[in-house]
Amino acid sequence: MTETRSEPYIWVTWLTKLLAGESQCEWSAWFRAHHTAYDKVPSDFDLASWTMDHNELVAARREQLLEDGYEVFIEDENAFKRIGSTGIIVSGKPDILAIRERIGVVEDCKTGRPRASDQLQVLVYLLLLPIRNPRCANLSLSGRVVYKTKAVDIPASALDGAFRQRFVDLVHRVGGETPLAKLPSWSECRWCDIASTVCLARVTEPPPSAEAETDLF
Ligand code: SF4
Repeated sequence: MTETRSEPYIWVTWLTKLLAGESQCEWSAWFRAHHTAYDKVPSDFDLASWTMDHNELVAARREQLLEDGYEVFIEDENAFKRIGSTGIIVSGKPDILAIRERIGVVEDCKTGRPRASDQLQVLVYLLLLPIRNPRCANLSLSGRVVYKTKAVDIPASALDGAFRQRFVDLVHRVGGETPLAKLPSWSECRWCDIASTVCLARVTEPPPSAEAETDLF
């Protein structure tokens, strides 16, 4: 049975696909920010093997960073919850924080194909993780997305005023009282966990094929 949250609560990854333009349905993030215990679509996602793959990648990175002389903090040790003056809460959990001689690197490990949202996720971590965090005090922080076969470095300079403003605007909109636009599409609804008993606009079937033969060319 759907329950209304006492305060808007946003998980970082609900924002990053919207920031990257990889998702369009803002209502999905807005609804989850304001509600919990809603009807969910049973998922056929293989969480067990994803978790195993992800844990292996995090463990391998941890070993490498330890060998390189870093002090390494992983997952739950990096969990944060930032409560804005608006009352909106934003939470996240970077996979790795590695520290060596006042240099800090925030890493997130990804087992899937690279996406722009992966880099934006690390940028949000760079913005929020250091807030009132003694472990990050006086650190020069940068970021990195680690894939199975490559890594993408994210310099601190990417955390510019334009990005901060886009992030804050989206947090205000997703955490605000006004419901955001619903943009149903097969490509998004199929991955969305909000059941059609809650979202009546949910698209449950793929669209007819867009393929057609023509003698125009
Ligand atoms: S089911 Fe589709 S339309 Fe409904 S919230 Fe999810 S993505 Fe948006």
